[in-house]
Amino acid sequence: MEDLAFDAAHVWHPYTARFTPAPQHKIVAAKGIWLTLADGRQMIDAMSSWWCTAFGHAPEPLVTALQDQAATLPHVMFGGLTHRPAIELTRRLVAALPEGLDQVFYSDSGSVAVEVAVKMAIQAQLAQGRRGRTSLATARGGYHGDTWKAMSLCDPESGMHSHFGAAIAPHHFVARPPIAYGAAWPSDDSRNGLAEVAALFERHGDQIAAFIIEPIVQGASGMYFYHPAYLRGLRALCDRFEIALIFDEIATGFSRTGSDFAMHKAGVVPDILCLGKALTGGMMSLAATVASRDLAARTGALMHGPTFMANPLACAVAVAALDLWQSRDWSAEARRIEAQFTQELAPARGFAGVADVRALGGIGVIEMRAPLPMDAIHRFCAETGVWLRPFGPMLYAMPPLTIAPDELSRVTTAMCTIARGL
Ligand SMILES: *Cc1c(COP(=O)(O)O)cnc(C)c1O
Repeated sequence: MEDLAFDAAHVWHPYTARFTPAPQHKIVAAKGIWLTLADGRQMIDAMSSWWCTAFGHAPEPLVTALQDQAATLPHVMFGGLTHRPAIELTRRLVAALPEGLDQVFYSDSGSVAVEVAVKMAIQAQLAQGRRGRTSLATARGGYHGDTWKAMSLCDPESGMHSHFGAAIAPHHFVARPPIAYGAAWPSDDSRNGLAEVAALFERHGDQIAAFIIEPIVQGASGMYFYHPAYLRGLRALCDRFEIALIFDEIATGFSRTGSDFAMHKAGVVPDILCLGKALTGGMMSLAATVASRDLAARTGALMHGPTFMANPLACAVAVAALDLWQSRDWSAEARRIEAQFTQELAPARGFAGVADVRALGGIGVIEMRAPLPMDAIHRFCAETGVWLRPFGPMLYAMPPLTIAPDELSRVTTAMCTIARGL
C-alpha cells in the first residue's frame, strides 16, 4: 500500500477519529525553519512543530551532541544512578532560573511534568498534616496537557472535559484573568479577577493544595495574553493561604514571549515551575519540574519515576540547546518578531470574519469569529509554502525565533490570506 494510504488505514493522528480525512502531507526532512515534503516542495514551519523548535530544526550543535551521546551512553536508569548530561543540564537550569527555584525533577513530556508538579504540591501539603488539601485550583482558559490530572485542569469548555464525563476529577476554577496584557490594570480587585481568587481561597482553601496557571500566555486553549499584575496578586494570595503556586512555562519558557521566562514579566517566582517543549530545542521529548528548595523539603520522597527519566540522549541535547539559548539574545529576536507581527497582521483587523488580532513575543494571532476550514488550509499551506495549523477559530503562528524578516512576511501574508477567506 502507498504510504499515505497506509497511514490513513492504520496510523492514528492527534485529536482525530479514525477513517476521517488523514494528513495530506508527508515530511521527509526538516532543517532550520524549513520542512521538506515528499514531493520536494518546502514549507516554513510557522508552528515551530507545536512550539518546540524555538531555534529552528536540527541545529548543528544539538545534532552533534545527540550523536556523541548515542555513542557513549544512550540510556541508563536514574534510580540510584546518575550521569553527566543530567548534572550539566541541571547546572544550566539552576543558573538560568530565579534564586531558590533549584530542585529539578526530569520526566519525558510536558503533561507528565504537570502531573509531577501536582504530586509534589499534594505530597507537601499531606506531609504537613493537611489531609484535606488534595484538589487544585486554576483559571479558566488554561491548557496543561493531555494526561488525566493535566487534562482536568484545562479549560472546562474548550478542553476535553466533555469527552470524558464524570471520569474527569473536579477542581476549582476561577474566571480567566480578565485584564488583557497591555490594558490598564484596575486596582479594584472585583474587576481584576483577584477578588474571586480570594473568595475561593477563603471558602475552600482547606481543600486546595496548589493553584496552577500558565504565566502571561494562556496557549493551547485560546492564545490569550493577560496582565502581569494578576500574577503578583495571585502570589500574595497563595502565600496568605499557604497554597503552592505552580507556573506552567512549558510553552512560554526560553524567550518565546520576549523575556527569558514569562514569569519575569511579572517579577513573580512560583513554588513549582514546569518546563518542556523548547527545553531540548524541540529535538527530543524531555520535561522538567523545578521546585523551590522550601517546597522540596516538605514533599518527602516524591512518588514518581519514569523509565526514561533524565534520558542521557535528551539531557545531552538539552545541554546543547541551553548553550545555544545562552549564546544569543533570543528574547530580543522574539520582540523583533512581535513588532513585525503587530505591523503586518494589523490589516486583518478590518476583515469581516476577524474578532481580534494580537501579538506577544514570537506569537502572532488572528482570532476569527468562526472555526476555520482545516482541509482547505492544509492544501493552501503546501501551495503557499507556509505550514499553519489553526485550532477552532484561532489562526496563529509561533515560528522558530531564527526566522528572517522576509520569511516572516511570507507567514503573515499567508495568515492574512486565510483570514480574508480562502
Ligand atoms: C504543550 C503543553 C503542555 C503539554 O506538554 P506535552 O509535552 O505535549 O505533554 C502542558 N502545558 C502547556 C502550557 C503546554 O503548552
